[in-house]
Amino acid sequence: MEDKILVTRSSMPDMDEYMDEIRSIWDLRWLTNMGPKHEEFKKELTKYLGVDNVELLVNGHLALEMTMQAMGLKGDVITTPFTFVSTTHAIVRCGLRPVFCDIDPWDYTINADKLESVLTKDTCAVMPVHVYGNICNIEAIDDFAKKHGLKVIYDAAHTFGETYKGKGIGSFGDASCFSFHATKVFHTIEGGCVCYRDDSLKDALYAVKDFGFSDPEDAGYIGGNAKMNEFCAAMGLCNLRHVDDDIAKRRVVYERYNERLDGIKGIGLNDPQADVKSNYAYYPVVFDPGIFGADRDTVLEKLNENGIMARRYFYPATNAMSCYKGMFDPDETPVAKMMSERVLTLPIYPDLDTVTVDRICDVIIGLSKE
Ligand SMILES: *Cc1c(COP(=O)(O)O)cnc(C)c1O
Repeated sequence: MEDKILVTRSSMPDMDEYMDEIRSIWDLRWLTNMGPKHEEFKKELTKYLGVDNVELLVNGHLALEMTMQAMGLKGDVITTPFTFVSTTHAIVRCGLRPVFCDIDPWDYTINADKLESVLTKDTCAVMPVHVYGNICNIEAIDDFAKKHGLKVIYDAAHTFGETYKGKGIGSFGDASCFSFHATKVFHTIEGGCVCYRDDSLKDALYAVKDFGFSDPEDAGYIGGNAKMNEFCAAMGLCNLRHVDDDIAKRRVVYERYNERLDGIKGIGLNDPQADVKSNYAYYPVVFDPGIFGADRDTVLEKLNENGIMARRYFYPATNAMSCYKGMFDPDETPVAKMMSERVLTLPIYPDLDTVTVDRICDVIIGLSKE
């Protein structure tokens, strides 16, 4: 049996490149707490992302939590259930109440036309998610937030390296949170960051990720611990040099899938968005069982039998997770529910070769009615 094809595979710099990068950590013995690698990575990242302000964090999940805490949010947060469960958990763990808005079936992001209908008197913020690298309806969300005096925090975990109308995707809204987890387009092993607009957030963010210390001895905030260490920052410095090459290689894989799967009845592909420079992070495919001839779970089973580990990502929708049983009603977001039952993300990573992509497509096409 050949090796399994996983849905993603972490990019690695040359080992020598990483060794060179971490050598100075041995000399200095400064392992964490905002050392020189942390500072250098933060500077390089700010440039790469084309944003004003960046704070580095230990992971993307805590970037979401720490941002909400630093903003001092209270009340309801409008968000979407078609996301990784982290988005919803972060809101709940901050003592806020998620209010779910349904998604747009074309790009899987929050349906901006429905925002008004879920507004409550306690709404303090919107947390939309750029799903699979598709960006939200930024203009409409902005207008809605301005009209009602709400903060906008994007979960931008899927959109590293993207631009919208030539501007870094992290420069929209009040803040955007990225994940640098090993499975993402760009990684620092574990890691994340928040890009934010208002300079006055700087001190609060810096403090809450370090136990709330506002001066060397006194804690001005009830903070946690979410600092990025020097080894992760060094991995980030290495991977940042290669991320554009990786994205270019992902594009080749993405386009091969398009060539093979486009036009097959009952298969919905992800349409490119106008004005967006994509990172080709995921390859979602939607199966309409009546037309295609097999449902999503049958396709997944067949792929798994062939050693291809596609994923039901995102299934179930977060408002249908068992920890939220009785709290939310998944039927209130019918599009999210339907997409979560129909979508499959296919393997995509920079060194996935065309022969393997063709083999994956052959298995899928073999199940089609035609
Ligand atoms: C990966 C991811 C997160 C969490 O990031 P971590 O770095 O794994 O903590 C949050 N939201 C979305 C949409 C993600 O894909």
